[in-house]
Amino acid sequence: MSIFTSMGHKHLHNIHKSKELTYGKEVVTFNPKEVFVPLVDPVNSKPIKLNVAIGDYVKEGTIIGYREDNMIPVFATVSGKIVREENLFHANIGRNVKHFVIENDEKYEKEPPLKILNEDSSREELLQRMIDAAILGHGGAGFPMFIKYRKTDGIDTILVNAVECEPYLSDDHHSLLINKEYVIKGMSLLLKLSGAKQAILCYKEGNPDVDNIYQDISQNNPNLKTYRVKNVYPSGWERHLVKEVLKRTYDRLPSEAHAIVNNLESVVRFAKACYDGQVITRKIVTISGEGINNPSNVELPIYTRGSDVIEFLGGYKYDDVSVSFGGPMCSRGVMDDKAVFLSYTSGLTILPRLKLNTIPCLRCGACTDHCPSYLQPVEIKAAYQGKNNERMMALKPWLCIGCGLCSYICPSKIDVSDFVKKAKMVTSLQLKKQEAMKGGKK
Ligand code: SF4
Ligand code: SF4
Repeated sequence: MSIFTSMGHKHLHNIHKSKELTYGKEVVTFNPKEVFVPLVDPVNSKPIKLNVAIGDYVKEGTIIGYREDNMIPVFATVSGKIVREENLFHANIGRNVKHFVIENDEKYEKEPPLKILNEDSSREELLQRMIDAAILGHGGAGFPMFIKYRKTDGIDTILVNAVECEPYLSDDHHSLLINKEYVIKGMSLLLKLSGAKQAILCYKEGNPDVDNIYQDISQNNPNLKTYRVKNVYPSGWERHLVKEVLKRTYDRLPSEAHAIVNNLESVVRFAKACYDGQVITRKIVTISGEGINNPSNVELPIYTRGSDVIEFLGGYKYDDVSVSFGGPMCSRGVMDDKAVFLSYTSGLTILPRLKLNTIPCLRCGACTDHCPSYLQPVEIKAAYQGKNNERMMALKPWLCIGCGLCSYICPSKIDVSDFVKKAKMVTSLQLKKQEAMKGGKK
């Protein structure tokens, strides 16, 4: 079920208003009776290599296992006994996977901290800390952060993305207010790690509280700066940010434009992992939308189930709601609210489900006019439905950023972005094959 059946067509220009449901509210703490640790690597869906077994006692920060791809650890997020294995829906993978269930003994015993690092530490030590503390990107797939820093030749700028342009979400805004020390430390560490000349904190205009806090960011280090982007969706999109802040474009990766873009939370976590030796076991998430009683920012252990925190906040307001892990524009509604918060889940958006009557395409061109990737979504849809591969390749659906604007804007209420997503999957495979063949010919 697409979230657009719940969004209707009225919220886009009201992004700030949607955020007011949680802005300025005191953060509440929630400690569940059990946490559910997924036993798969979110990038390749392969089982993690286990370090512990059912019946073992674990502490906060005990390594449950390692992701197969690059030995990124998966940590226990409460102390207690691993009591059983359970199959639960995984919001990113999109199907049921095995989870270890840890019974929370509420003692919050912690593993000892990692060795303290700082700006004087070596590049190798800092890079290894990104791996050991499992610092991940927040783009949705859980890619490890260190990958962007393995090779930094030619990088001159680090952009810290705190734009949070999705409606309803406000956890980054809250983090900016409480984590200034770590934001600055993290930016300085990333300069050291990359050799870049400047690190720029990017956030939305119209936030005087944030302006106030960060007005002196360059005081002790002139290479740290701020930049305010327009309060429009999708201003936080990586490609858009690089273009607006640096006036540069790129084809595939920001590194082609001499930039690395990191989400705010990854930067804060990296600073805490270095300066405090902390691995991250808890986080603040936004639980919001018109479909839940008491929208709030909630501090909880990672791997808490969505359904447990929804119940804690007083439950759903309506019988029929749509639940999305993340914001409503980029994420899809999930069929099962028992999925857990991952370390890179920003929150839950809960909206009353509306019945939309789809009508045939009006050929109005609105989807094309609004696409920030300059694609022709309606044409991609036609090519996909007509199984016209050649036409699909010519329309480059792989450049879609999944912002959802084409579906949102469509007066016929067609979920155009869903067709683009499918065309992207088909053509990306074809593109890979073509590249492999080119490589083979060399
Ligand atoms: S979701 Fe639609 S509007 Fe957004 S980038 Fe993709 S095709 Fe363009
Ligand atoms: S916005 Fe909707 S109705 Fe208009 S051209 Fe695109 S798909 Fe057709």
